[in-house]
Amino acid sequence: MKILVVNAGSSSLKYQVFDMETESVLAKGNCERIGTDGSFLTHKHADGRKKEYHEHMPNHTAAIHLVFKALTDPDTGVISDMSEIGAVGHRVLHGGDRFSQSVLVTEEVEKAIEDNIPLGPLHNPANLMGIKACQEVMPGTPHVAVFDTAFHQTMPPEAFMYALPYEYYTKHKVRRYGFHGSSHRYVSAEAARLLGREGDPELKIVTCHLGNGSSFAAVKGGKCIDTSMGITPLEGIPMGTRSGSIDPAILQFVMDREHIDIAEMTRILNKESGMLGVSGISSDFRDLEAAAGEGNERAILARSMFIHSGSKLIASYAAVMGGVDAVVFTAGVGENDADIRLKMVEKLGFMGIAIDPARNNVRGKTAELSPDGAKVKVFLIPTNEELVIARDTEEIVEKLK
Ligand code: AMP
Repeated sequence: MKILVVNAGSSSLKYQVFDMETESVLAKGNCERIGTDGSFLTHKHADGRKKEYHEHMPNHTAAIHLVFKALTDPDTGVISDMSEIGAVGHRVLHGGDRFSQSVLVTEEVEKAIEDNIPLGPLHNPANLMGIKACQEVMPGTPHVAVFDTAFHQTMPPEAFMYALPYEYYTKHKVRRYGFHGSSHRYVSAEAARLLGREGDPELKIVTCHLGNGSSFAAVKGGKCIDTSMGITPLEGIPMGTRSGSIDPAILQFVMDREHIDIAEMTRILNKESGMLGVSGISSDFRDLEAAAGEGNERAILARSMFIHSGSKLIASYAAVMGGVDAVVFTAGVGENDADIRLKMVEKLGFMGIAIDPARNNVRGKTAELSPDGAKVKVFLIPTNEELVIARDTEEIVEKLK
């Protein structure tokens, strides 16, 4: 079966086509600037050939039409006809407490995604637009929704509750949800496989998804029991542009002195904080590494803060699981930045967590980084959220037959 995986943003739409027999990506691409002037699609064939389509895309339906033009293009296409796509898997940000796994899209599911818009105001409307556009263009094809929050639904209440008046939870569903669920699920399952301990209820793994957005998860027996992002992706470790966890009293304090309202404060916490805010240089870890190498003190500080917060999370997740068998690094920073990986576990030797510097000299491919005989295995495992979406989609659609 060929599966189209769609990740729709407000003005973008990323896609990949999988051949599930080999689980290989046949083609992928990205529609950018949807709804504005100068919209274009960049399409890449698996063999490396690339083609750009500069066509006006007033909305997501137009984008999907253009995606099919690219997919069936005699030059760089991978299918001859739309009917070759057996199912579509959609990445959806927020499933709230309603979805603990992926589901076939029905009217009821669409309504639930809509109901969760207050929890994911930037992403859920765009995800829904992507679903509706695909349904319009492919009415007879099954669609599956895969939620970023779903994997974390196994957290116990002591991990997901905030110490606020209880009614905020019952009335408004204020609780920790967590994100990057497909990534944490994928890399923890891969680590279990590498350890030969799939299905072991006692296997304890800390997964570190370090990218532009970063989150950690404590995964015991294949189930998430704690994670660092919260009701939104703002909580946890400082990120590219997000502050991560801060004293909430800072908001009023700064708003009074900078004469800004809560909307502006929230924007700053999401877009102008984190590595960018501290360094004043960039949100990109490559730029920070270069600046730190030249002795820039704020770049050094930003990286040190990231490392410090990450170390604390790894150690605290070992505590909540009553031990740790493996630590996994993944995503843009986790897969590429050897220095961050090394320093994040540097002080954790007392727990048996260590990285061999020579083995750590690797990027973007699965590798064991811990020394021989280490009590705790440290792995680099490239994440593959799209494959998780494709696999879930195939599994759900197979059951329909
Ligand atoms: P992601 O959100 O997983 O796509 O990760 C994107 C981030 O990974 C970028 O913003 C960079 O900070 C970081 N990154 C990507 N490549 C490298 C690299 N070669 N070295 C260090 N950081 C990298």
